Amino acid sequence: MVINNNIDISTVVSNYLCHSCGACQVICPANAINYNVTSMGLFLPQIDYSLCTNCSLCYRVCAGVNLSKGITAKLNAMDDPFVGNVLQALVGRANDSFIFNNAQSGGLVTIVLAYLMETGKIDGAVVVRADEDNIPYVKPFIAKTKQDLIQAQKSKYVPVNLMSIFSEIEAFEGDIALVGLPCHVHALMNLTERKKSIAPKIKYLLGLICGGVMTYKATELLFEKSRVPRNEIKNIIFRDKLNNNYLDAKVSVVSIDARKHTIPREVRFELKKYFTPPRCKFCFDKLNIFSDITFGDPWGIEGIDNARGDSLILVRNDKGSELIEHLIDADKISMRKINLADALTGQNIRGKRLDYIGFRNAYRKTNLGETNYKVVFNNKIQKINDEKSSEYVSYVKRFIYLNRLPHEKVKKLIKRKLIYSDSLRKVKFIIKKMLPWSKL
Ligand SMILES: Cc1cc2nc3c(=O)[nH]c(=O)nc-3n(C[C@H](O)[C@H](O)[C@H](O)COP(=O)(O)OP(=O)(O)OC[C@H]3O[C@@H](n4cnc5c(N)ncnc54)[C@H](O)[C@@H]3O)c2cc1C
Ligand code: SF4
Ligand code: SF4
Ligand code: SF4
Repeated sequence: MVINNNIDISTVVSNYLCHSCGACQVICPANAINYNVTSMGLFLPQIDYSLCTNCSLCYRVCAGVNLSKGITAKLNAMDDPFVGNVLQALVGRANDSFIFNNAQSGGLVTIVLAYLMETGKIDGAVVVRADEDNIPYVKPFIAKTKQDLIQAQKSKYVPVNLMSIFSEIEAFEGDIALVGLPCHVHALMNLTERKKSIAPKIKYLLGLICGGVMTYKATELLFEKSRVPRNEIKNIIFRDKLNNNYLDAKVSVVSIDARKHTIPREVRFELKKYFTPPRCKFCFDKLNIFSDITFGDPWGIEGIDNARGDSLILVRNDKGSELIEHLIDADKISMRKINLADALTGQNIRGKRLDYIGFRNAYRKTNLGETNYKVVFNNKIQKINDEKSSEYVSYVKRFIYLNRLPHEKVKKLIKRKLIYSDSLRKVKFIIKKMLPWSKL
């Protein structure tokens, strides 16, 4: 057994700074890293010290705490790291009705990828889908056809170790586009600075906006709530725009006979309060600032389709701009320009800044350390009051407390909370029916 004297990712994990990107596992020369799920459902790397050689590479590449030189330089050059460079803000949708209806939002991610494939600009795309042999886990794969892309549609609001696809990209013959969350993009950039082989293959970075994930234990609670036996569950659609509507989409648990079992959206919201990892709260890059194009929901924008959805995009560079122009010219998408300021309000970037400062302080107060990079606010520093500040600390402490309990106990506690909020919702609903003027 080798004594571990050097720094490795165990400190990142124990300090709740890991976001499960998978970069450490890729870089480890000793194959000493595997994944483990905690009581609260965090999906975390774990080192087998009988194999580890103390090389520290995993820590150095870890996007949970480090940003590469290249990213840091870009970050420092930005006026506002919470927004990044934006050439255009647009709202619109895919004109392909199948892709649109099957999408999370307006289907823009998928139509862009399908167009890139059709026109030979890429040969494959890194996307994700449910791991059917290991539900509820989600895994990345390289899509090579439009059908593959369709299979990957819709948001999976769970952590995905996207970098586990790295060796497949290395072996892939051809050009690639990668769809990822902001932390995936950070991880990719960290890795490609050290493992340069795949950099020339990745032609496009399509970034999703990210307000955070819920852990896999939250998905398991949604499964239980659906009452579908575990061995009959095929998939979950966290926000199913075809179940109710886009704005108030419900959760659908899909069984192997293709039936949808509905769970009220409020249950998902309630679970989010407990199962969002603190690392997501302490994350500055909601808008995926290093991507070529950022994709999200057009929250707060006037005139969007609340029934079936639209997409928001932020075009970040000339490559992204040219691509969107080509898709418009080819009649693949319908887009209109919007004000960036409206998009930022809709995405609550002000709230993100406050959360970032609040959770950074909460991490300090709970001795969890912090990232090795600094996000410079320039003149956009905001202050948080004491009451709010203690809310942030309580969130972190509660998560840690629950994560140390046995899972069965966590489940019991959260189920009790769900029953309470369910009853409250029903009472509110009845009162509203009886007293339509009630403000409840
Ligand atoms: C965890 C998460 C949090 C998000 N938070 C916000 C938010 O706060 N505000 C907002 O406006 N938008 C958010 N989004 C983005 C939004 O949900 C849609 O993904 C986006 O609008 C694209 O929709 P679409 O119809 O163009 O994509 P679709 O055509 O439905 O395609 C979706 C694509 O996303 C990929 N994908 C799905 N889940 C993941 C995942 N976990 N990791 C990596 N790739 C994935 C799929 O492989 C697929 O290629 C979030 C997405 C995720 C996954
Ligand atoms: S220190 Fe080196 S050998 Fe050990 S887990 Fe990290 S990368 Fe692998
Ligand atoms: S590299 Fe990614 S998965 Fe590994 S410890 Fe860091 S954040 Fe977690
Ligand atoms: S909030 Fe940040 S850390 Fe969490 S999943 Fe999204 S990009 Fe990753």
